[in-house]
Amino acid sequence: MLVKISICPKCKSPDIRLSNSAAGMFLPEQWVCDKCGYEGYMILEIDVKDKEKFKA
Ligand SMILES: [Zn+2]
Repeated sequence: MLVKISICPKCKSPDIRLSNSAAGMFLPEQWVCDKCGYEGYMILEIDVKDKEKFKA
């Protein structure tokens, strides 16, 4: 099974979550990184098996 996880494009941390507070119906989802404070619409998606490569 191929599982994808989302990681921060800035610090490669998987500690990234959707910020739903300000998002309305017509707004794209915005992501927030808990580690470096990145906020944006762009995230990286990697295979869960590649996760080791991105470990800090
Ligand atoms: Zn980050």
